[in-house]
Amino acid sequence: GQEIKQNIIMADMIGAILPRRSPAAHKGENGRLAVVAGSRGLSGAAAMTAAGALRAGAGLITLAAPASLQAVLAVKLTEVMTRPLAETSAGAVAQAAVQEIIGLASASDVLAIGPGLGCEEETRALVRAVVAAACCPLVIDADALNALAGYTSILTDCSALPVLTPHPGEMARLTGLSIQAVNADRVKVARQAAGEWGSIVVLKGARTVVAFPDGEVYINTSGNAGMATGGTGDALTGIIAGLIAQGLSSHDAAVAGVYIHGLAGDVAAAAGMVGMTATDLIKAVPAAMYGIKG
Ligand code: AMP
Ligand code: MG
Repeated sequence: GQEIKQNIIMADMIGAILPRRSPAAHKGENGRLAVVAGSRGLSGAAAMTAAGALRAGAGLITLAAPASLQAVLAVKLTEVMTRPLAETSAGAVAQAAVQEIIGLASASDVLAIGPGLGCEEETRALVRAVVAAACCPLVIDADALNALAGYTSILTDCSALPVLTPHPGEMARLTGLSIQAVNADRVKVARQAAGEWGSIVVLKGARTVVAFPDGEVYINTSGNAGMATGGTGDALTGIIAGLIAQGLSSHDAAVAGVYIHGLAGDVAAAAGMVGMTATDLIKAVPAAMYGIKG
């Protein structure tokens, strides 16, 4: 078979691409980021996505979530702006929110969409409409990926290369493969999907694979099994989007994001790997970035 060049992600590589903050920086220079996430019972996923972006250094974050979650999210996230969206009777984002979200995307440098959106058909259709119409860079995760199963052709029309962050279960749904088949050859599956979908594919799990449409592949080296707990994936989505907000290309943000996320997990695990939480990881992101960059 054809030889695949696999780049191993290391600290020095990431140090060279992390955003540099000028001493005279103001918040507008560090990017406007929108998050569309959450549904009744899944407010934490929305909160952790926005918090990941905040701790990765994004300048101004707006979290758009079903209206009935707005008050609790506003209390949880002091530094994040919140936007109430039209919701279904089950408390998920309703189709009626489509124009509001597309308008928010137009006013943003990057849109992260998916964590905790739930699996109502109305919300899935809304996700597809947003992905098809949004003109800013996208980071697509979780229930937004499930909404794209069977509709991946929408991705090839995006103006900027979208970043997809599936775990093996989401990747199985998107590709029609079994989870075992996804994990049996993670590099090949991610690489083929990136080419077919015209997208950056971040296939998560121990040794996350980042694959690009031209066949370029990166394998992550940071992280630990303490990260196998709820919410760590939502944090990754926020971190990657937060780096794009600060001016990194989607390419560099995907590679740097997975490394920083794993390193923050390693920092958090220093206080005890079993029982660390996604919130511990998120709080460790600034220290992880400082450790790489100084
Ligand atoms: P999710 O399944 O969406 O919550 O994402 C889980 C996150 O934790 C992903 O970024 C995974 O790569 C990471 N993760 C889970 N288990 C491990 C592990 N054993 N080693 C390293 N990273 C892991
Ligand atoms: Mg997830």
